[in-house]
Amino acid sequence: MEKSKEWLIQWLCDAHAMEEQAQTMLSGMLHRIENYPELSDRVSIHLSETKVQAERVRGCLEAFGEETSFMKDAAAKLFATAQIASGVFAGDEVLKGSLAGYSFEHMEIASYTMLSAAAEACNESEVTLVCQQNLREEVAMAEWLHNHLSSTTTDFLARDSKSKI
Ligand code: MG
Ligand code: FE
Repeated sequence: MEKSKEWLIQWLCDAHAMEEQAQTMLSGMLHRIENYPELSDRVSIHLSETKVQAERVRGCLEAFGEETSFMKDAAAKLFATAQIASGVFAGDEVLKGSLAGYSFEHMEIASYTMLSAAAEACNESEVTLVCQQNLREEVAMAEWLHNHLSSTTTDFLARDSKSKI
């Protein structure tokens, strides 16, 4: 097999692992942000999108004849950092979650930007389309989170100061 195509397949495996990690992180976050309905709704939408993203990536890998069981092992190594970030919650979980989520979306944006370029270089137009579709959803989520970081912070502070009176 052509070397660049081997890289493309390996990076698709990494992306699949990343989406599995994203599902763990987003569903963990959902349980901790019930008091923030707007954020909770958006995270819930992105969790659904994330499941579809993983399926799209899996579809690409299957088209290359790759086994789905092969995909698991990259996950732990690559995304340990994100897991740690999502595990550290202490009172201000909504803000830690927003921070971890915002960081994670940017890792996804970088990943799909690179994957898209690699797919194009390999003349794999279906893979390019999948990467660009996923990329658009990550950009939209990152923008949403960015636009709500300030209000989430002030909401948290208002809620927290009331709880201490
Ligand atoms: Mg994603
Ligand atoms: Fe995402």
